[in-house]
Amino acid sequence: MNEYQPQLAPQPEDYCGKLPVSEVFHSIQGEGRWRGTPSVFIRLQYCNLGCYWCDTRYAWETGEINKGTLYSPESLAQQVTSLTNYPAVLPHIVLTGGEPLLHQDRIPALLELLRRAGFGFIEIETNGSIILGNELLTAVDWWNCSPKLRNSRVSEELRINPTAIRTLALSGKADFKFVVRDRNDVEEIGNSYGKWIDAEQIWLMPEGQSRDIQSSRMKDVVELSLAKGYRFTPRLQVLIWDNERSR
Ligand code: SF4
Repeated sequence: MNEYQPQLAPQPEDYCGKLPVSEVFHSIQGEGRWRGTPSVFIRLQYCNLGCYWCDTRYAWETGEINKGTLYSPESLAQQVTSLTNYPAVLPHIVLTGGEPLLHQDRIPALLELLRRAGFGFIEIETNGSIILGNELLTAVDWWNCSPKLRNSRVSEELRINPTAIRTLALSGKADFKFVVRDRNDVEEIGNSYGKWIDAEQIWLMPEGQSRDIQSSRMKDVVELSLAKGYRFTPRLQVLIWDNERSR
């Protein structure tokens, strides 16, 4: 495997209580337990890993990073509310990235405002490499953790944080989604993470940034899920919109 050096854009030194937002959009959750659920996605900028196959490089890569906007929690909550017009049932909130936990000191203020505005269910997507504080752990309804394997080409020291994974696994409100290509990837899940995560918490998801690649890999990944007793999740956003942005 060739040497791979991700070009992680440096974060500002001081956020002044604001959150760097790459994009906000209204769509359906495409992956995991809540797939199909109407959701407002808030994509925060910057990442600490820089995976080889990442499909949101515009949220973290030097040169590729989009302009983004620094929002105060108040203005971001207002922007989210303006995207939804359901009188009774508000969509889920999905906080994603990049790696949202790089900003965990500023997230609770946002969540409190969103709760006050009536949003009843908040998910956070994380790569599982950053230790989570108690305040955020209890403030969130569901954690979609996607720990990385060797296929990400990120070093083990950066991507595997046993304390962070254990904290989420023991929370009783987390799933662990793994991007896989083949049997070797699936064996690696058990060997690397199996001591911290129960099989019933594990979901397999085919690697691939286009509809054609997803489609060609799904059958094999379903068979690997069945062989191990893991769950399978498609990536609906790729199957429906191919590699379009903001879906
Ligand atoms: S951790 Fe997630 S956002 Fe960061 S590079 Fe990997 S896939 Fe992309």
